Order: sequence, then C-alpha cells, then structure tokens
Amino acid sequence: MADVIRLLPDSIANKIAAGEVVQRPASVVKELLENALDARSSAITLVVKDAGKTLIQVSDNGCGMTETDARMSFERHATSKIRTAEDLFSLRTMGFRGEALASIAAVAQVELKTRRPQDELGTFIKIEGSQVKEHGPVSTSTGTTLAVKNLFYNIPARRNFLKSNPVELRHIFDEFHRVALARPDVGFKLYQNDLETYHLPPSTLHQRIVSLFGDAYRGDMATCKEENDYMKLEGILGRPENAKKSRGEQFLFANGRFIRHPYLHHAIVQAYQHLIQEDTHPFYVLFIDIDPTRIDVNVHPTKTEVKFDDERGMYVMVQASVKKSLNDHQLIPAIDFQQDVNFTTKMQGLMPEEHRVFSRMGQSEAGSPEKNPYPAYSGKSIPSQWQTLYPTPIQSSRSTDDATLGAPTILDESRSTFQLHNRYIVAQIRSGVIIIDQHLAHHRILYEKFLALLRQQFSASQQFLFPLTIDLPPADFSLIMDMEPELKKLGFTIHHFGKHTIVINGIPSDLTLHAGSEKELFEGLIEQFKNNQQELKIDKKENLARALSKRAALKHGVRLSNQEMNSIIDQLFACQSPQYAPGGFPIVRTITLDQLSSYFDKKNN
Ligand code: ADP
Ligand code: MG
Repeated sequence: MADVIRLLPDSIANKIAAGEVVQRPASVVKELLENALDARSSAITLVVKDAGKTLIQVSDNGCGMTETDARMSFERHATSKIRTAEDLFSLRTMGFRGEALASIAAVAQVELKTRRPQDELGTFIKIEGSQVKEHGPVSTSTGTTLAVKNLFYNIPARRNFLKSNPVELRHIFDEFHRVALARPDVGFKLYQNDLETYHLPPSTLHQRIVSLFGDAYRGDMATCKEENDYMKLEGILGRPENAKKSRGEQFLFANGRFIRHPYLHHAIVQAYQHLIQEDTHPFYVLFIDIDPTRIDVNVHPTKTEVKFDDERGMYVMVQASVKKSLNDHQLIPAIDFQQDVNFTTKMQGLMPEEHRVFSRMGQSEAGSPEKNPYPAYSGKSIPSQWQTLYPTPIQSSRSTDDATLGAPTILDESRSTFQLHNRYIVAQIRSGVIIIDQHLAHHRILYEKFLALLRQQFSASQQFLFPLTIDLPPADFSLIMDMEPELKKLGFTIHHFGKHTIVINGIPSDLTLHAGSEKELFEGLIEQFKNNQQELKIDKKENLARALSKRAALKHGVRLSNQEMNSIIDQLFACQSPQYAPGGFPIVRTITLDQLSSYFDKKNN
C-alpha cells in the first residue's frame, strides 16, 4: 500500500500556527512590541490604522538584523533567543518560539526594514502570505521597522470575524499598556490614524502609570517591595478607596512578562479584604522576579498563562507581601497582621509544616470558608467540585452550594458551553463546536498536575482528614510503604500502624472527594497502580500520577455548572497535551460548521 503521510508545506504549517499566535490585531501588536524590547530598544513607536486592520507598524532603535537574519526571521522556529532545550528553562527574553514573524507573514502583507548600527546599508524584505515578493538593500535608520498590512487578507473568514474597531482598538491598548508598564525605562509612542494618542518618555513606574491612566493616579499609592530566597516582588498598589467596579487595571508580571494568574490575583485581592467593597477591584502593578527555572512559560503560545513550581507557596508569599505594604502605608487596620510576623523566615523554608501554619492562619482570617483558597476538610460535607477543580474560587461572591447545584452563570459571554447527558461538555468555537469528555479531560488535567508535583522538590499541600485507618493485604501494604515518598509529594500523609495497617491523615488537595470515599479512592488507587504495573512499562511516578488521576477524575454522570465547565476547558487547554487522555483516548472532538452544514445539505438534495 502506498504511504499516505505527508509533511505539510511550510506555508500551510505557518497558517495553522498563525491560528494560535495571531488571533487579532492586538496579538500582532504584542509580538512586535516584545520583539522590539528583546532587541534592547530604548524608543519604540507603534502606528495603527483602522484598529490595526489596515496597518500595524512598530519601529524601534534596537540592535537590528543582518541581511541573512532578516530573511531567517520569517522562518518557522527561527529564533536568536534560545539554542538548546536547556535554554528554555532560563528564559530572560519575551520571545523564544520563533513563531511570531512566520505566523504573521503567513496571514498578512509584511514589510521589514532593518539595519544594525555597525552596517551602512540595511535590508528591505516584503512578504505576502509567506511568499517573499521583494528583497534588497535599503538605506534606513538604525533598528527595525516592521509594517503589517491588511491582516488576514488571505483568510476572509478570519477577517470577517474581527470585531468592531472600538473593540479591536481596546485590545490593542490593553497590550500596549502591559508592555509600557513592564518597561517604564523605555520610551513609547502610539499613533492611531495619524493621531498621537500616547507619548511616553522614559520614566519611573509611577510616572508611567499616571501618563497611561491619567491624573487620578497621581495621588498616593502604596509601594510594595519584598525579597527572599525564592522570589522578589515589587510594584505599586492602588489605594483601596480607588478600587473600581470594572476589572482591567490589574497588572501582574513575571520576569517582565504580563501574566494572567487567577490564583495569584485572588491572593492580591484577598489582601485587600475588608478594605474594599465587594465586587470592586483594586488597581495594582506588580512584578514578580523569580529564578526562570521555577516558572514554565511554555504552556501556551501567547504566553500569558504560566505555571510556577510552587503555586501554593507563591500564593502565601504574594498575599503576605501585599498586606504588609498596605499596612506599611497604614491603609489596613493593624489587627489584621498576625500573619506577617517573621514573614521572610516563614517564606524561606516553605516546609510542609510551615505551609500548614500559614494555611491555617489564612483560614481563620479569611472568614467565610468558601472564600478560602485552602478549604478545610469538613468531615461529612461534600466539598464543592469547583473548589476541588480549581482551588481559587473566582466566583467568591457565590456560595459553595450554588456552585455545586449550578444555577449556571456565564462568566464570559462569548463562550457558551453546555453539558450533554452529564457526560460531555459542548462548547462553541469559531469553526464549529467542540465536544469534550468530562472524565477524560479531568483525568488529563489531574495527571499533569500530579506528575508536576511528583517532579518538584516540595511536597504538595494537603487537605486534612480525620485519621482514616485502612487494613491492607500484606502485598499492598509493602507496595504502599514503597511508594511513601511519592505519595507524600502528592500530598498524602501516611503512617504505619500495626502490622498491615496504615493511617491516612492528609490527602492531596486536588482530589474530588465525597464524604466516606477516601478509603475507596485509596483502594482504587492501589488496584489501578497494580494493573498499570502489569500492563504498561512505565516508571513509578508516571504510574502513580496515572492511577491517582484516573481514580480521582470527575466521573460521568456528574452535573457541572457553567463555571465548572469553563474551568475544565481552561485547565485542559493549559495542559501540555490537551488532546489525549493519559490512556491515549481522545478527549476532544470537533465538528466543523462545514461538517454540520453537509449533514443538512444531504437531506435537502
Ligand atoms: P522569537 O521572538 O520567538 O525569537 P519571532 O518570530 O518573533 O520569534 O522573531 C524571530 C527572530 O527575528 C528573533 O529571534 C530575532 O532574532 C529577530 N527579530 C524579530 N524582531 C526583531 C527586531 N525588532 N529587532 C531585531 N531582531 C528582531
Ligand atoms: Mg518574538
């Protein structure tokens, strides 16, 4: 039989990649501004016309490119920023995938002019839909100018899906704000349809905030500065009385990169507790500086989602630092501050014991249990699945029962999801619908989480149980003893008691448990682990992560609220391999609009 597998031509591969990297004009703005910063520019000018639909142009005075590099920069996976796989773990630049220019050039008409300071002549390249149209020397100033014209000119469907100019412009401003805040030391200008909208000279962070958001921000703000062995946190916090009803002025950066991190956002907002009204959002611009090996930015092509190796620890540190600086500015009643005693020394160790102390403190302070990021195990009650799936209760104003019984609230109106037969999550995407198997999706999510836990040095946090005694057959008992270090990393606390009896005091906080099912879960875990051992040639950690995630994953038949579904979708697509469950089953199926319409056409014909 003839071979059927073929490598896609680059132009098609680029178009596919573009689907991920270039969603809208603002994505181009982000990539080009980041490239300009990576080129060590000190002055950057952005020009947009027609909300970026006709033109997005970024000029910088950075290092420029040689002729060969200029040509290479449009190749897929061509980057000057990493050379080896190890480099991925010590990123200091914004870019590294070498995907942006290739993707942009696949879906627009692009003109590049670039010159290095030491060269006399620069290089000009014109590319349309990945095809080089012109290429030659040009006289131009030092640095790089990249003009992106008629975005999606060759994909009418995408072009038609762009939103109105005000909406697209809003997204562009958002990206611009983030970059401009991240680098107050760099000068920026923004022209919009020939109108100078921003002129930002190099300045301090506070001055930059005022130039971006207006004189209302000129007043007193709290500065935040904390440093310990693990990380450095620095930035500016808005006064509680200036918290706004609308979101959008919360800026968190990790190693210079704007990140979305609902969990850490929650930590910050919690630090403002009792100082701001319900449903208002404090202004903040915070920079986390952390050893790049502790942070994984490679989870999503647009790189706003990141993972830290000890997210629980980060939560505690960030919250304590914000509280402390609000307190130093005497914005907070001092009585709220037992937690800050020995702040630095507490953070350095981060041993499980200390974790515990912190969690408990957090608990007594946070007041209502549903707001607590470390939900206490409450004996007979059924913990909300939402909390278990995603321990940050983003919907903090809703009660736990609400979340379980699910009077569905749509968080993001543009995303409509619903559940089919308590088994599948159906969500609309641009090209049609996706159908996600809830059990397999959760299996994948937990598997990656557990595997990550097993690979890090720290032990995971736990939910505490009333001691649970289990009698085991001797073989199982020795199996468990053998796995004890790994189980500990996952968040189990186990002691032996008597000959073949173990006592469990704590379990991983990510587990969905119903009262009384811990024993079942544990026995199921052993069973699964043994099966895997016989059938699969995988190492102990992998096996454990698989077995536990399989047992703990959400079952079919469980009703989910919209938030739970959205949380699963978000977490699934933040996974490294969202398409397949650890056993190899597909998790997601897509039905395209074309397929759908063909069903109906047939009937008509
Ligand atoms: P990445 O930024 O991930 O490396 P890009 O596709 O954005 O990938 O850019 C590819 C390469 O082109 C970069 O690694 C860099 O060497 C070069 N480049 C892009 N923009 C500029 C610029 N403004 N100045 C200098 N070099 C640039
Ligand atoms: Mg880049």
